[in-house]
Amino acid sequence: MCFSLSKKFIIIILIIILLLSCIFALPSAFTSTPSQKYVVLIDAGHGGVDGGAVGRKTGKDENRLNLEYAFTLKEIFERFNIKVVMTRTNLNGLYGPFSVNKKKDDMAKRRDIINRSNANLVISIHMNSHPLSSPKGAQVFYKNEDPNSLGLATSIQKIFVQTLPNARAAPSIGDYYILNCTDIPGVIIECGYLSNPNDEALILTENYRQLICYSIFIGILKYLAI
Ligand SMILES: [Zn+2]
Repeated sequence: MCFSLSKKFIIIILIIILLLSCIFALPSAFTSTPSQKYVVLIDAGHGGVDGGAVGRKTGKDENRLNLEYAFTLKEIFERFNIKVVMTRTNLNGLYGPFSVNKKKDDMAKRRDIINRSNANLVISIHMNSHPLSSPKGAQVFYKNEDPNSLGLATSIQKIFVQTLPNARAAPSIGDYYILNCTDIPGVIIECGYLSNPNDEALILTENYRQLICYSIFIGILKYLAI
């Protein structure tokens, strides 16, 4: 069962790569150096004292997983000549050694990086959790009353529905500081629930990480109408 699921993922990834190689026979925005037309801000949620959610079965923490997913997404964008700015590149939080309010300082630093980035889009990577083990699925959250954020979230979620085994049907409103602190359109991607055994097992696989990151990438290309 596990083997066939994994095999299915590999096939889906190969199809996506094939599609991409067809799509990118290729507009000059991606092939020409030095012009990098688009900039994407990737935010790996949590870090440092704030480890985020914890895998119920394996104890893996969200901080580390978010960073792994963020790096995979970064690699994909850069492969297609899209510039990436990251809020954090290691497991530490974004606060100084003498910070008295680490969470507040961390979020203020992220806000500053986002607003100085000249990014077209903000993508914040997270893993979800719930007191019950039943909630599951990958879902995109967008800023309320922001049509651009809604458009971006809808575009990514549509690809999730086509490619992921655990996608939720529709995106949802998210009232989060990381989205509200800037006018740049942005979304939070909850890649699945670390409190759900099936989602947790999926999240820890290389196949799922590649699949969801390629799905985010394609959703963004469609949103940007590239
Ligand atoms: Zn989180």
